[in-house]
Amino acid sequence: MIRFYNTLSGQKEEFIPLEPGQVKMYTCGPTVYDYAHIGNFRAYVFEDLLKRFLLAMGFKVTHVMNITDVDDKTIRGAKAKNLSLEEYTKIYTEAFFEDIDTLKILRADYYPRATHHIPDMVKMIKGLMAKGYAYEKDGSIYFDVSKFPNYGQLAKIKISELKTGVRIDADEYSKDSVQDFALWKKRKEGEPYWETELGPGRPGWHIECSVMSTKYLGETFDIHCGGVDNIFPHHENEIAQSEAYTGKKFVNYWLHCHHLIVEGEKMSKSKGNFYTLRDLTSRGVDPLDLRYLLLATHYRKMLNFTFDGLRQAGAARRRLYDFIYELYHRTFPPGETPEIKTLVKEAKNKFLAALSDDLNISQALTALFELVKKGNIFLAQGQVKRGDRQILDQALQDLDKVLAVLPALEEEQLPQEILKKIEERQKARAARNYALADKIRDELRAQGILLEDTKEGVRWKRIKPTSS
Ligand SMILES: [Zn+2]
Repeated sequence: MIRFYNTLSGQKEEFIPLEPGQVKMYTCGPTVYDYAHIGNFRAYVFEDLLKRFLLAMGFKVTHVMNITDVDDKTIRGAKAKNLSLEEYTKIYTEAFFEDIDTLKILRADYYPRATHHIPDMVKMIKGLMAKGYAYEKDGSIYFDVSKFPNYGQLAKIKISELKTGVRIDADEYSKDSVQDFALWKKRKEGEPYWETELGPGRPGWHIECSVMSTKYLGETFDIHCGGVDNIFPHHENEIAQSEAYTGKKFVNYWLHCHHLIVEGEKMSKSKGNFYTLRDLTSRGVDPLDLRYLLLATHYRKMLNFTFDGLRQAGAARRRLYDFIYELYHRTFPPGETPEIKTLVKEAKNKFLAALSDDLNISQALTALFELVKKGNIFLAQGQVKRGDRQILDQALQDLDKVLAVLPALEEEQLPQEILKKIEERQKARAARNYALADKIRDELRAQGILLEDTKEGVRWKRIKPTSS
């Protein structure tokens, strides 16, 4: 059974998608006004872990992530740089895609952009007006929160605290100022605008997610994710807009990840502890160490990013690397050890069972490192046979389909004639024919294969062939 903590109900619930075997999920995407920072990536990596886990459990996942390319911040940024909104947001949209590839975040199926969906937004806003949920005031259009009795259900705000008839134009505001929020903002001097049936203007931020999620996933879908700071007002407003418009439940499971802080403090540019992915990679940080660090803390816990933590993440990945390196660079005797098969099966089961419990990543990682630890013991005892090597390697690759933290280490198969020579040499050594053993060793060295005898067996690595 898969269970997720649903912000809407405030508890862990069994996850049952609307359609068996299919998951429809929407994750709030970047506002492309700057390079994404590690706090943003915490959310994107959490969502990637969730998606990869669902894929590993055999679901087909349809994933939509919006690109916010028109809002208060993008307009401000474009103005400051004296660029058109399109020119300005293009820079950061491209950077965003580069960054998610660097972090091995799987691409979504759709990346709808707000500016490409203005007519759809106009349609929903008109519909909301026709149903009495929205009204016009001085050329802008607002959602009337007092008309939607369930307002506040996600953020747990008491409806009695609502101030009716007070309006807010900003895209972001605090819980203390629950107000009628802007769906459509009338044209302002010097701001981009669209000529529409609603009059000249531009959409507010919240309406784009209601429009684009339902357009690509249907009026009701399974999972909606974001950071906790999206809960209010953004997601609360999404629910109000969508449910008022369709009369149906918008989303079944709301999953939110907690904040990221840096060295125990709130990340901010003024404190000098603000990092984009690029800031870190330019300092020589391995992006997959960062990925490991971001996913190793449970998503509902505050994540304290530290450089020490980053080193520990690197060390953890190094343990995985060393183990696989051994598997790829030793020669193993034929056969199988049944205990290894059992070990692998148990590790995989534990790993998926842990993630099935609201993505319990600590337990999942424990299962992985237990497997590596025990695998190393089997290696040290010379009990790993050729068949086991394959099983162990496959298990790590399978678990890494979910984590995506393994270093790239290509398995290299030694040609058959070289394997034969290594075996011949082993036989010669066993028969104390050291002259023959050394001769074979030198021949292999000349071919670029360096052998190392250890008490657990023979290891090999490639070197530059020596000319003989
Ligand atoms: Zn959104």
